[in-house]
Amino acid sequence: MLYHANPILRILYSIPVLVVFLLCFLLLFLYHYLCLSIYNPSYPIFLTVHLCFILILWSFTMSFITDPGSIPDNYFIPESEKLISMHINSSKKIGNGRYCVKCRRIRPLRTHHCSVCGRCILRMDHHCPWIGNCVGIYNHRYFVQFLLYSALDCNILTGSFARVILDYPEKTTWLYYTVMIVTMGIGIFVLIMGLSQLWALMMNFTMLEIHNLIEESVFDIGWKENIFQSCGRRYIPFLLPLVSNNMDGTSFPVSKRIKIGRVGIKEDIEM
Ligand SMILES: [Zn+2]
Ligand SMILES: [Zn+2]
Repeated sequence: MLYHANPILRILYSIPVLVVFLLCFLLLFLYHYLCLSIYNPSYPIFLTVHLCFILILWSFTMSFITDPGSIPDNYFIPESEKLISMHINSSKKIGNGRYCVKCRRIRPLRTHHCSVCGRCILRMDHHCPWIGNCVGIYNHRYFVQFLLYSALDCNILTGSFARVILDYPEKTTWLYYTVMIVTMGIGIFVLIMGLSQLWALMMNFTMLEIHNLIEESVFDIGWKENIFQSCGRRYIPFLLPLVSNNMDGTSFPVSKRIKIGRVGIKEDIEM
């Protein structure tokens, strides 16, 4: 919540971020203290756990320190977009009126007002209290990476605890079972979240657009181009939480075939 105007709320909304950091360090400590004191995992497993741990902290930090995207001061609706905007708004599927009464500003397509952050966010996905930030055009990729690295690490930790419990039952206590259940619960949760977010990136949907029951993404330009739009065209930033910016977040190429309304009228709109 680094971008909230109110300093007290900024501190308050940062508490869950601190909890996530502490939980990450606690789970790694318990892995060392409980598992590694009993058995030696294979070298690739040991390396993956620690590499993922670094990537989790890195992508998580990038998620909450990166500005998700705000409307540029000189923004105006381009002529080429007015037709698309009219169709989208008339279909009432995105619910994205072009004027924000709270910010008193014209806003780009896919921009939504976040009541927690108190401002409009470019290509807003949702507000995530755990990162103390909105997920928008500029930090969406870091958020997905955080979820997927966490899913991988938690599932490896679950497997490690399960192995200790099965192979060394005489040395295990209730604490081993508790930590295994916690890592399994978190692992399944972040895996489902991460995969659904990855699917949304591939289909060029945001969670708000899915929530508003859009049948097909107006902005779907093929899964590869959709991924490039969020992650950039270089492969290393796709895997690592490196800064790589690709779009300004105020205009988007649209699918050539746009489905309008529930009756399924199709209309070609060329960009
Ligand atoms: Zn607004
Ligand atoms: Zn927000």
